[in-house]
Amino acid sequence: MIYLDYSATTPVSFEVLDSYNKTSREFIGNPNSLHSLGRKSNELLKSATKQISDLLKVMESEIIYTSGATESNNMALIGVALAKHKRGKHILVSKLEHPSIYKICDYLRSIGFTIDYIENDGDGLIDFDDLKNKIKDDTILVSVNAVNSEVGIRQPLKFIRQIIRKVNPETIFHSDMTQALGKTTVCLNDVDIASFSAHKIYGPKGIGLLYKNSKIKLVPLEYGSGKSNELKPGTPALPLIVAMAKAIRIALTDLDKKERFITRLNEKIVKELTSKYPNVKINNTKYSIPHILNISLGNIKPETFINALAEKEVYISTNTACSSGELSSSVLALYNDKQRAASTIRISLSHLTTTDEINQFLNYFQVVYNKLNIN
Ligand code: PMP
Repeated sequence: MIYLDYSATTPVSFEVLDSYNKTSREFIGNPNSLHSLGRKSNELLKSATKQISDLLKVMESEIIYTSGATESNNMALIGVALAKHKRGKHILVSKLEHPSIYKICDYLRSIGFTIDYIENDGDGLIDFDDLKNKIKDDTILVSVNAVNSEVGIRQPLKFIRQIIRKVNPETIFHSDMTQALGKTTVCLNDVDIASFSAHKIYGPKGIGLLYKNSKIKLVPLEYGSGKSNELKPGTPALPLIVAMAKAIRIALTDLDKKERFITRLNEKIVKELTSKYPNVKINNTKYSIPHILNISLGNIKPETFINALAEKEVYISTNTACSSGELSSSVLALYNDKQRAASTIRISLSHLTTTDEINQFLNYFQVVYNKLNIN
């Protein structure tokens, strides 16, 4: 099997799973219980939270556990909208967001908020003048992801934050950092709220977090009991949280070394695809991270190509695992070309990927390309 879909999800690492198993077995108490087993679990919860807050360089009280980035994005966008609706109903998002952000925006629009889209340049960077012009007195929120999930474009969050602060200091800045953590440095000082998911960083599925600066108020979307956090009531998922803490620690180790290795793999694929296949278009730009390689395949349906590769046990994605079968909104935002956006595939790489796997992938690519007679 050759797995090249690491941006859709990653295999949980052995050490992380070990933490999960150990915690499940040895910490059976509910962290909200008053007895000694509960207190023991609560101490572990606090220590995992301390570890995560140290790694992300934020305060412990600024971390809210969620089931993943979709929930974090909901908590952030809807939470801000409901908290700030009396001040304004205008929200700005980039054209390179994950589908979950657009779905939340559709909901917010249906309850009376206005959603505007920030233009980007040909390389996918936010158009700073457009951002400046579109922030108004009633703009309550700007959401721009740190790294785009389809084409891997990294945005300069610090600079975007400066623009927002200058034009309207009341506007809250949220960033979906799901595809950035573990691939590139993330700095939570650059934003007010940020979303993360553990399963993108070799952690378990079903756990993520929301960073929220302590000065920001969100209206909770869930109500219940439990003292851990007013935004996320109920019993904390202790084994998942402890496992996520470990996954974050490992993900932040040797970032540069991992990136250099992945860059070499990326360059090898790009070199071969561009020299051998005239119909293959590389959709990445100079701002893309090397972990995500996005190409368009001329007249072929990406699903057909992906299924043919899967028959050989080679696994890649269409634009994103979450929007299969649709136009790639990111490629459309970049190139304004519907055919190009309709034929994209995403190859996502990891430090676990081997050169041998890339060689095999390129061989299978050729077999499938010739069989499907792409032109
Ligand atoms: N945001 C981004 C940028 C993503 O890549 C993903 C996963 N495809 C999500 C949000 C959703 O994450 P989760 O699966 O943890 O809900």
